[in-house]
Amino acid sequence: MYRGLYIHVPFCKRKCPYCDFYSVTKTELADDYTAAVVRNIKAQNVKADTVYFGGGTPSLLSAKQIYSMLSAAEIAYGSEITMECNPNSVDEKYLADIFSAGVNRISFGVQSLSDKELSALGRLHNAETAVNAINSAYKAGFRNISADLMLATAYQTKETLAETIEKLVKLPICHVSAYMLKIEEGTAYGKSETIQSLIPNEDETADMYLEAVQMLEENGFAQYEISNFAHKGCESRHNLKYWRCEEYYGIGPSAHSYVDGVRKACPPSIERFINSELQEEIVTEENGGADDEKIMLALRLTQ
Ligand code: SF4
Repeated sequence: MYRGLYIHVPFCKRKCPYCDFYSVTKTELADDYTAAVVRNIKAQNVKADTVYFGGGTPSLLSAKQIYSMLSAAEIAYGSEITMECNPNSVDEKYLADIFSAGVNRISFGVQSLSDKELSALGRLHNAETAVNAINSAYKAGFRNISADLMLATAYQTKETLAETIEKLVKLPICHVSAYMLKIEEGTAYGKSETIQSLIPNEDETADMYLEAVQMLEENGFAQYEISNFAHKGCESRHNLKYWRCEEYYGIGPSAHSYVDGVRKACPPSIERFINSELQEEIVTEENGGADDEKIMLALRLTQ
């Protein structure tokens, strides 16, 4: 049976102040990490028809490391293979290499095309870098490119959001994910009253969301999920599995999986992941996919 395969790549150059995803800066562990992912994929005899490298920053890995992980699984012909990339960690050569390695969908963490907003988010790229990265991906052969957008960030207004969307839709992308900033406890943002005072209030946030939905729709990006928009045929096949309550493997520290009706999570520790023959898996739900869960997830979809 072919399922989705999520691989959590827990490396980042630097921690963004709002982020609570599990990631570390120890990129010297990348080879050991790759070997552990390969071991786990082989042990589970993974057969996949969608693969998603999420993070963290998967584009900190080499094309060779990506290829070795993909080669460990049985991948169905015509699979969707997505990799999240930070605009500042790619160039045309790297993008061509990962395309040759089998990746056929890129998701760029653009977040905004305003340098002031990007700087407040602590991102390592500016608007020009993001635009160049998307154009380079297109030149490298990618025809399925997604951009992440953040709503309700510090300094963002309805006007600056409209400017970002106007520029974004002119780029060679066919998918947009637009998520509202959530202040998480324990992050630098969670501790900073100054940043929180610069963030739009709930009513302004709601207006920005509705503006984004309308502008994206007007530019051919149909809303198919609360936060996701696509040209026809460009909807994320991997993410649709989550909302349709279909099964997926989850490999890597902090990855979640849903296999044979059971939901599990791997503890968020790169050291434990590398030093264990097989990843530890903590059962989070014995009977995943109950009717109420199916309804809750399906209600996220326009369909
Ligand atoms: S690059 Fe992404 S995963 Fe890494 S710290 Fe920033 S937001 Fe989090």
